Amino acid sequence: MASTVMRKIFGSRNDRQVKKYRKIVKNINILEPELEALNDEQLGAKTVEYRERYAQGESLEDLLPEAFAVVREASKRVLGMRHFDVQMIGGIVLHNGNIAEMRTGEGKTLVATLAVYLNALSSKGVHVITVNDYLATRDAGWMGKIYAFLGLSTGVVVSGMDPLAKKQAYESDITYGTNNEFGFDYLRDNMAFSAEEKVQRELNFAVIDEVDSILIDEARTPLIISGPTNDNSELYIKFNELVKELEQGEEAETKEEEPTGDYTVDEKNKQVHITEQGHEKVEELLIREKILDENDSLYSATNINLIHYLTACIRANVLFQKDVSYIIQDGKIVIVDEFTGRTMEGRRWSDGLHQAIEAKEGVQIENENQTLASITFQNYFRLYEKLSGMTGTADTEAFEFQSIYNLEVMVIPTNLEVARKDHGDLIFLSVEEKFNAIAEDVKDCIERKQPVLVGTASIEASEHLSSLLSKLEVKHNVLNAKQHEREAKIIAEAGMPGAVTIATNMAGRGTDIVLGGNLDIELEEKGELSDAEKQEFTQQWQQRHNEVLESGGLHVIGSERHESRRIDNQLRGRSGRQGDAGSTRFYLSLQDDLMRIFASDKMSGLMKKLGMEEGEAIEHPWVSRAIENAQRKVEGHNFDIRKQLLEYDDVANDQRKVVYQQRNEMMEESDLSEIIISIREDVVNTLVTNYVPPGTMEEQWDIDSLVKALEDETAQKFDIQKWLDDDDQLNEYLLPEKVTQELVSIYKEKENAIGVEELRRFEKYILLQVLDSHWKEHLAAMDYLRQSINLRAMAQKNPKQEYKRESFEMFSEMLEQIKQEVMSTLSRVEIRSQEEIDELERQQQMPTDVNYEHAQASLQSNDAEASSEDQPEPHQPFVRNDKKIGRNDPCYCGSGKKFKQCHGKLS
Ligand code: ADP
Ligand code: MG
Repeated sequence: MASTVMRKIFGSRNDRQVKKYRKIVKNINILEPELEALNDEQLGAKTVEYRERYAQGESLEDLLPEAFAVVREASKRVLGMRHFDVQMIGGIVLHNGNIAEMRTGEGKTLVATLAVYLNALSSKGVHVITVNDYLATRDAGWMGKIYAFLGLSTGVVVSGMDPLAKKQAYESDITYGTNNEFGFDYLRDNMAFSAEEKVQRELNFAVIDEVDSILIDEARTPLIISGPTNDNSELYIKFNELVKELEQGEEAETKEEEPTGDYTVDEKNKQVHITEQGHEKVEELLIREKILDENDSLYSATNINLIHYLTACIRANVLFQKDVSYIIQDGKIVIVDEFTGRTMEGRRWSDGLHQAIEAKEGVQIENENQTLASITFQNYFRLYEKLSGMTGTADTEAFEFQSIYNLEVMVIPTNLEVARKDHGDLIFLSVEEKFNAIAEDVKDCIERKQPVLVGTASIEASEHLSSLLSKLEVKHNVLNAKQHEREAKIIAEAGMPGAVTIATNMAGRGTDIVLGGNLDIELEEKGELSDAEKQEFTQQWQQRHNEVLESGGLHVIGSERHESRRIDNQLRGRSGRQGDAGSTRFYLSLQDDLMRIFASDKMSGLMKKLGMEEGEAIEHPWVSRAIENAQRKVEGHNFDIRKQLLEYDDVANDQRKVVYQQRNEMMEESDLSEIIISIREDVVNTLVTNYVPPGTMEEQWDIDSLVKALEDETAQKFDIQKWLDDDDQLNEYLLPEKVTQELVSIYKEKENAIGVEELRRFEKYILLQVLDSHWKEHLAAMDYLRQSINLRAMAQKNPKQEYKRESFEMFSEMLEQIKQEVMSTLSRVEIRSQEEIDELERQQQMPTDVNYEHAQASLQSNDAEASSEDQPEPHQPFVRNDKKIGRNDPCYCGSGKKFKQCHGKLS
């Protein structure tokens, strides 16, 4: 209350900021007449002038008003759109490295051009990040006209592009592409073996469109590049059968109680939990199936991957339903995206889940994968010198943007006043009643010729509603997984008078619904037209537009509340763009997931209080508030998941940075002899101090063992005892140097024999080779560690601290091993011909049969088939994309409390 009053008097920080920006916009507007007087050539030449002034030391801030004015003038000339003043404000927010919250239809695509142009003046590259390839291509083509007019080059990166074309796109002044593509290119670049193979430049400035979708929704899982390992299909099939003999139980409600059954299901986290009883039963079953030996235990460290198959198979059977989470297409399991409802061909769930579902559905089981490189979006986007974003819905997540990305959310006023009417939620007892009411509402709209968009949370709901409408003979379009090519077109038509469109969440995102239909697309489709024809179509459109406006504009129906308020707001935001009339209404039932899982008790209490009866709907602010609270809880919970993912990735991130930096430096140099020299010194020092510790008496030295160890590492047998006998001066401090000198001179001989240049090439080859193979193993080991670390929590240890400590140890160990291996390989190298080195370098290529995975799913690379016969590597478990914390497990924060009583507490 107090804060509301304060805000009335002083205005919010947001208001003050916007006011400040309006002043800048005023200065920009003053420049307009002057620029209007320039011819195209003069206007285009401004870029050269600004670049020179920038080189002379003027800052981008100094150049902002002029540059923005020039972009607007260019846009007027090439696109016929004059940036609105609020769009200018949005541009300033982007340039300042923050998030501009601007509603759907406010023209964010155009807003980006301002900050993009200004920052491209520095020639360090600007990235515009979109949610899919379609939008990247569309926006680059569209906005590229402005940039081209002003003499800047625009490139697009899309998946499946060849590296040369990609490199060229990255070298453009401005590059459009998706978050996945940018992230994977970063990882791929760090797997390259020569600087020429790399495609990206430095990461300078990025504007992220639909920033909440990318930095929040998609940030729940990391990007992973992985390669295949060996075949475990038999185990999945066996475990899939075993699961049928297990019994699902209930979680314990209090500390004293025990969970019942063989396993319990945690719907919220999409996890299952095996009970004590279940463990015993599974052990018995595994012994019966001869997978485990008599007396062997499921708990022992070597069997940890058996638990992995078991949980994957239970999850597959109880948590993932056909036609909701996935569909079967040509004998393959195809994931359905929970946010967009689209099918994601070629993508795979990780963590063995995909194989488990394949076993469950009796289709061919594909092989498991090993992580080759991975990064979270959080850590990828933090690599940019400056970051900014725009979306219609960021404010609910402002805290997360601030704390994780250091991005402030600025809410930009709309260009025209919002005229949309958001009705209160209608709540029904059953799903059936709810859908019937939605159908009534739809029919009502059609009578008025009002276009209506129904948003659903799943394909199933879309199809259900679709068949209901078909029965009622209501013509409609369904936008879901099976029709995604037509998505943009259908959405573009969704504003036609009386059009009925059913769409899963966020499908067709980024495409505008224009009342009366999309004239631009229509004209484009008609091809060559005379002016008279054009005019006629425009007139027809205007008539339809007015008709729809009179009917009340676009009506949006939500058939369910999403877990996140933001997603609901996005759906609502489809209506009432640019001051258009419009309305929205959500229909809910007590049987909806969100209500069932999070709000049921409270809700039924409320219902009783309000005296609700069968067949009736209620609309009450209490109910809406209760739902909103449930959503907040889920949002907070999801935030915790993302935060935890990040905290774990931060540990890996420090190591990744070190390794990638080292690798880059090594790749760019042709002479790495300095590194070899220091590795040699290190290895020798470590060995000598091991057996001849500093400050000890000669009697304590173990010369024999030292000689042996040195022989192992360097392939040289030194008579150290003789050295010591012959030289009184030689002591434990001088010994390492003596050994090193000997090694250097032997190496020198080798260098003479092989040739200096050849040896340098071989050194580089070995260094990269050894580093990569150890890093890969290290990643797998870190995966193991992460999976098992929660078990440590049982011993009252803080799992995150443990993880940190142990992974640091593992990392140091890895560095030692790398040194040793480099040393011993180089010591053993026999004289090789130049051709041999050529051949080795040829073999040293980026792996081709890799998967690009995200959102617990992977995209198979194009050439997957070509090299799938390669020797499989030994089995390694795959990175867990989501945490494996059960409700009864100790909380990950290390408090020692059960998860459900700590961070897992939902009420
Ligand atoms: P958003 O991404 O904010 O939802 P879009 O960038 O898709 O919005 O733009 C929505 C529509 O508004 C597009 O058809 C675009 O051509 C139009 N538009 C944007 N800015 C302007 C402007 N300044 N003048 C005229 N039309 C504009
Ligand atoms: Mg957009």
